[in-house]
Amino acid sequence: MAILTATNLVKKYPGEDQAALDNVSLSIEPGEFTAVVGPSGSGKSTLLHLLGGVDRPTSGTVQLYDTDLYQLNETQLAIFRRRQVGLIYQFYNLIPSLTVAENITLPTELDGKTVPEERLNALLIQLGLAAKKDSLPGQLSGGQQQRVAIGRALINQPAIVLADEPTGNLDQRNSQEIMRLLHAANVQQGQTIIVITHDPQVAAQAKRVLTITDGRLTEGA
Ligand code: ADP
Ligand code: ADP
Repeated sequence: MAILTATNLVKKYPGEDQAALDNVSLSIEPGEFTAVVGPSGSGKSTLLHLLGGVDRPTSGTVQLYDTDLYQLNETQLAIFRRRQVGLIYQFYNLIPSLTVAENITLPTELDGKTVPEERLNALLIQLGLAAKKDSLPGQLSGGQQQRVAIGRALINQPAIVLADEPTGNLDQRNSQEIMRLLHAANVQQGQTIIVITHDPQVAAQAKRVLTITDGRLTEGA
């Protein structure tokens, strides 16, 4: 059974003539590692946001298991997103005033829960951030900040992890490290992962590649 099913997704932004997404349907199996490629402005981020419950489509549906995301109201959708969707962005989107540990545990804290100290420490070690636990994002390199963002995306063990150009701001060594961590989550925890990328080397590491051109989705590179 598919974990994520998008059906006839259309997204038209106000004031735009052309639809950013033009009737996109897609099915993702649990544990898949998928790359989404395509020219700038073709609709990749729009698709990722709709799959993650971040935005609302003009028409069409997104189902995560048996939940129809856009039948939920804003409050329900926010809760759902926090528990079931891990988001990773090109520019990390960390909260500058919170420490590494606080940024990582934020999605859990917002749910009124606490991350057990052993689990946090194990995750920090896995991310290579044990020594940076109490540092602020501004004291970290780009590669380190993105590893914090990965920790934050994984902390609630969400059903899906969505990454929008996660290596777009990093050099090759740091990009490889980020991909290694995403693959580890995929292999060890069976995490379902979708990555938008411009980098052919990143796309080549995915099991499945989808291409978007002018808002239309095709299978393959
Ligand atoms: P990609 O991620 O492939 O670069 P996007 O999904 O960001 O593409 O954008 C697809 C199209 O939708 C582009 O033409 C872009 O200009 C437009 N677009 C994206 N976000 C908005 C927005 N908030 N308002 C209006 N147009 C937007
Ligand atoms: P990485 O291993 O992520 O590539 P670098 O080699 O760039 O890290 O940086 C080495 C050390 O320098 C890191 O431990 C980090 O704490 C520090 N550092 C790197 N960039 C910055 C920055 N922009 N501001 C503060 N400290 C930084």
